This record gives sequence, C-alpha cells and structure tokens, in this order.
Amino acid sequence: MTRYDIAIIGTGPAGLEAAITAVVRNKNIILFGSKDLSRKMQVVDHPILNYLGLPSVTGKEMAAAFTKQLEELNISITEEKITTVYAMGDFFGLQTSANEIVEADSVILATGVTAGKPYPGEEKLLGRGVSYCATCDAPLYRGKTVACIGGSAHEEEEADFLGEVCEKVYYFPLYKGDITFHSPNVEVVRERPVEITGGMKTDALVTDQNTWPVSCVFILRDSQFPGQLVPGLETDGNAVKVDLQMATNLPGLFAAGDIAGQPYQYIKSAGQGNVAALSAVNYLAARKRSQQ
Ligand SMILES: Cc1cc2nc3c(=O)[nH]c(=O)nc-3n(C[C@H](O)[C@H](O)[C@H](O)COP(=O)(O)OP(=O)(O)OC[C@H]3O[C@@H](n4cnc5c(N)ncnc54)[C@H](O)[C@@H]3O)c2cc1C
Repeated sequence: MTRYDIAIIGTGPAGLEAAITAVVRNKNIILFGSKDLSRKMQVVDHPILNYLGLPSVTGKEMAAAFTKQLEELNISITEEKITTVYAMGDFFGLQTSANEIVEADSVILATGVTAGKPYPGEEKLLGRGVSYCATCDAPLYRGKTVACIGGSAHEEEEADFLGEVCEKVYYFPLYKGDITFHSPNVEVVRERPVEITGGMKTDALVTDQNTWPVSCVFILRDSQFPGQLVPGLETDGNAVKVDLQMATNLPGLFAAGDIAGQPYQYIKSAGQGNVAALSAVNYLAARKRSQQ
C-alpha cells in the first residue's frame, strides 16, 4: 500500500493551496475532495473584492483559475469523502466513503466549517445506529428501516444506494428543490430532524412533527464536525484548536481554513493552507532526522 507524505482533505482554497505548496516542496500527496472544488466557491456570484491577484472575480471564476493552476502542476483530486481519520502513532489511516483505508505520514484538514451542532443523541449513538457513511454501514442494516438526513443534493446518490440495501429509507432533505430517487424504497419526508433517541442502540428519529422508528440514522453532511472526523482531536465549538503553525494537538495533523475558525475568508484560508503545508514539510523532515 502507498504511504503518502501528506494527505490533504478538502478542495476549497485552504486544501488547494496546501496541495500546491506541498507539491512545490516535492512531497508525495493525495488530495481528497471534489472536482467542482468547493460549493462555497460555486455559489458565489458576486465579485470578490479582496483576493490578491484576482480582482473582482466571482467564486466560479476563482475556482476556474485554481483548477488551471492544479492542472499546470499535475495535481489530481481524488473524489472521495473521508469519513474518519485515525491517528495510528507514527502515521494516519484515512477511511474513505468507499470503505478503503489510505495511509499518510501527515494530514492537513481543510474541510471547511460545519454549521450548527450535532443532534441530541447523535454523539452518544454514533456507531450504534448513527452513521456518517452509507457505503460503509448500509450492509449492517440490510432489510431494515433507516432514516437518512441529507445536507445537500450531492447526498441523494448515497440515499439511493441505501434504498437498494434497506427495506425502507426515510429521506429528510435539509434543502429545497425536487428530488427523485431510482429506488422505490426511498421516501422523501419534509420534516425537520431534532433528536435521535435510543438506549444501547438507535430506536427513532424525532422530527418537529413526528417520531420515526428506525434502526439507524445516516447523517450525510457536506462536512463533518471536526471532533467526529478525527477521534481525539481538540476542538473549540466547530473549530479545530490550532497554533500559529496550524498544528493541532495530534502530532503530524494540521488544519487550515474555515475549519480552523473565524474569519471565514478565501484569502485567509489559502494563507493558512500554505502555512499548514510548510509545517507538515517541517514535521516530516524533523521526523526523518530523528530516525537517522
Ligand atoms: C455565500 C458565501 C459568500 C462568501 N463570500 C465571500 C467573499 O466575498 N469573500 C471571502 O473572502 N469569503 C467569502 N466567503 C467565505 C469563503 O467561501 C470561505 O471562507 C472559504 O471557502 C473557506 O475555504 P476552505 O478551504 O476553508 O473551505 P471550503 O471552501 O468550505 O472547502 C471545504 C472543502 O472540503 C471538502 N470536504 C469537506 N468534508 C470533506 C470530507 N470529509 N472528505 C473530503 N472532502 C471534504 C468540501 O467538498 C470542500 O471541497 C463566502 C461564503 C459563502 C457561503
């Protein structure tokens, strides 16, 4: 199995700048995210006035400029969601939504900010009827009734897959617009989830209108709360605690961009991505020296 020098999670300005800097410093990297880069760039139609070197471009135009730069440096994007990052001592194991493990000596988290907070019951029942990955955990609920909370239309494919495996899937979209599923087992419910209940295992999803008895609640957000993505990571609310080198409490793990706290700005995110990559490079060099 390939062990990468640096795994970078996120294709917004923070992750992209981290990838570019790491490649310029000759590191063997893997970059996880989306070929559309970041939804926060795709939706911004107004001119962005304060990004150095790209005056008055829209988010989409900025994304096109970033893509061109990636192509010039032969940086490819692996279109996988990372569901968990495990600190294994002297390396990291990254679990993908395809249920594979990728290994890296260091990791940069650049997954953006996750709005809100976990549902009551979510953290207590995680792994016991709460899941963030349909591909990984759907087989555990074969023939059962489950709920799926979808943060964006991107998650509909995952819900359709659940419909192929589970007897019944109640899909709770947190967004507007028409939804059609291929699987007849998936039913769209326009109610607002408020709580997940259960003792040793999940028994229901409670909404603002009803209680839905289910064996599992799949919560498919655009990005996960950082403490759920990386067990053992120190956080402050929705933000990862970092120092000025973008280092977290876990040696070899760095964070940059919105995930590292306010202000939420493109240029600040890109700058922190640069710092995180250089810190990862220094971390790898120091480790190599200590092993000689
Ligand atoms: C409507 C709107 C307007 C804005 N206008 C401005 C403005 O005018 N000027 C300005 O400076 N800023 C603006 N911002 C803020 C700016 O968009 C953010 O600060 C910036 O995008 C943050 O960059 P980031 O790289 O930290 O994260 P993001 O851009 O949020 O990117 C996060 C990336 O991580 C990926 N990801 C998340 N979780 C995972 C996972 N588990 N596995 C793999 N990939 C994952 C996502 O797909 C995405 O590619 C605006 C934001 C919004 C929403």
